[in-house]
Amino acid sequence: MILNTHPAAKNISQQRLPELLKTMPKAELHIHIEGSLEPELIFALAKRNGVALAYADVEALRRAYAFTDLQSFLDIYYAGASVLLKEEDFYDMASAYFVKAAEDNVVHAELFFDPQTHTARGVAMQTVIDGLHRACVDAQKIHGISASLILCFLRHLSEEDALVCLEQALPFRDKLVGIGLDSGELGNPPEKFERVFARCAQLGLRLVAHAGEEGPPAYIWAALDVLKVERIDHGVQAIKDPALMQRLAEQRTALTVCPLSNLKLCVFPDLASHNLRELLDTGLMATINSDDPAYFGGYMNDNFVQTFAATGMHAGHAYSLARNSFEASFIDDAAKLKFVASLDQCFANFDTAGVN
Ligand SMILES: [Zn+2]
Repeated sequence: MILNTHPAAKNISQQRLPELLKTMPKAELHIHIEGSLEPELIFALAKRNGVALAYADVEALRRAYAFTDLQSFLDIYYAGASVLLKEEDFYDMASAYFVKAAEDNVVHAELFFDPQTHTARGVAMQTVIDGLHRACVDAQKIHGISASLILCFLRHLSEEDALVCLEQALPFRDKLVGIGLDSGELGNPPEKFERVFARCAQLGLRLVAHAGEEGPPAYIWAALDVLKVERIDHGVQAIKDPALMQRLAEQRTALTVCPLSNLKLCVFPDLASHNLRELLDTGLMATINSDDPAYFGGYMNDNFVQTFAATGMHAGHAYSLARNSFEASFIDDAAKLKFVASLDQCFANFDTAGVN
């Protein structure tokens, strides 16, 4: 057992685990903000903007959320994003997410967004970034949540498209903490984006990429060695490659794992078969995240509670996951220390040793 845990964890019973999981402070590092659009908000924004939807009502849209793989999800995801046109739409979408995040005791969030999905529809880059950034600023004021933005390139498009997207975003560089790579993984290896990632590194942007969700371990190697990312989004396929597992453990490269997403997109047949526990027990710096919570049936605490119930993980794993989420985040060391101290306090409060 290589878990980085807290002395109080051993005194916290499995019975009290759901309460601990919900209460403990945590960071979310893998949330596509367009994937937080609930069907109700999609219909409200469609009405506000006069956009016609291919679904009769909220229930018809929700019924379409029966996915067989990543692509079947992406088709509906991009249709849902079509209702986003104005700055206030992006603000409202992110603000709705922060309400859910606050309920789940998420104290820091790094939001992915897909500008190419919007600029291709004629929405200006400034409209997208201004709306999301204003919601991040207000999240601190309203909920005490610190938040930042990670611009993601769509990997099913060309690297030339990504370079154009980057140029459009440069005037708003100060509102971005980093860049990522998402959308359909298979057939779109990391090497395709070597130049644009190198350019972003020169600009001082933090680098992450989706790799090893459906794609092979070779995509994770390439994300590390060619794109030079600091975190791997998903990464669960690393388990097929012992040398890669060793590398990830030695470098303490964080994996932003999304269990309910993996379940809904059939990466694992059921949650009990998920390899998160094995990743943690092998010494990898794994975290739990919600990915596209409106589409995959759960926000942060749903992911925590359901995954722990299915895999039998204990309070030691809970501490490790929450601590990893802070250590892998793109905040400064003082903020990390403050968050870890609040996590330690939460575990100390749960410690019932000697109490009768
Ligand atoms: Zn994702």
